[in-house]
Amino acid sequence: MIKSITDVELATAAICDHFLAARDEIELARTLSDRARRLVNPEQARDVERIGLELAELWKRIRDRESMREDSHEGIPLSQIRRAVELAEMCKPEDGRVHPFVGAVILRGDVKISEAFRSEDGSGGHAEQLAIEKVRDKVTLDGSTIIATLEPCTERPRAGHRPCAEMILKYGVRRVMIGLVDPNKAIRGNSEVLFRTNSVGVSYFPTDLAKHLWELNRDFYLAQTKEDFRSLFTYRR
Ligand SMILES: [Zn+2]
Repeated sequence: MIKSITDVELATAAICDHFLAARDEIELARTLSDRARRLVNPEQARDVERIGLELAELWKRIRDRESMREDSHEGIPLSQIRRAVELAEMCKPEDGRVHPFVGAVILRGDVKISEAFRSEDGSGGHAEQLAIEKVRDKVTLDGSTIIATLEPCTERPRAGHRPCAEMILKYGVRRVMIGLVDPNKAIRGNSEVLFRTNSVGVSYFPTDLAKHLWELNRDFYLAQTKEDFRSLFTYRR
């Protein structure tokens, strides 16, 4: 129950902090809070209560939307994770070598702001790199989430580009969801260490989608590893 200006401020802070609160609700909550703060006369207590009711209505709107939310995995909508897999399936090799099938989706909150697949540029550009490059105003990457079907590279000696993991850190991406670890031992697992030590959250795909990605990238894993992963692919119970 909201009875005082402090209550109003606390409710406003809660709405602003809420991960799913959309911008218009946050602005409305702040406006209501400002109005409450300007009420200096105790006789205006009823106005504070009215503001409190409006805040409660805002909360209800946020909660209702949350209950209608689609399925998610580790707080990320499954539809967006599936989209990254679809993008990976769109890859076409730019030369005769074996390349990975990789898709990347960038989100702000639950909303997609960019996507790409490997070699969409026709010259072997990495999915994460291309998705980041497509974002015109790089400030919008600050606090974003990137879904990558393959672990972002931590070194890229030949291409003349900075590694994708470095770009992710440079632009302030806050969360990374990874499909598969890289079969290359020089990269495998390094991005997780790099991200976590820089306070970037790391999570992994749901198992069914990861399995699909393993199959899609089977040739790439075999070509890259020769030894260790090959036996896993031929394992039979
Ligand atoms: Zn890369």
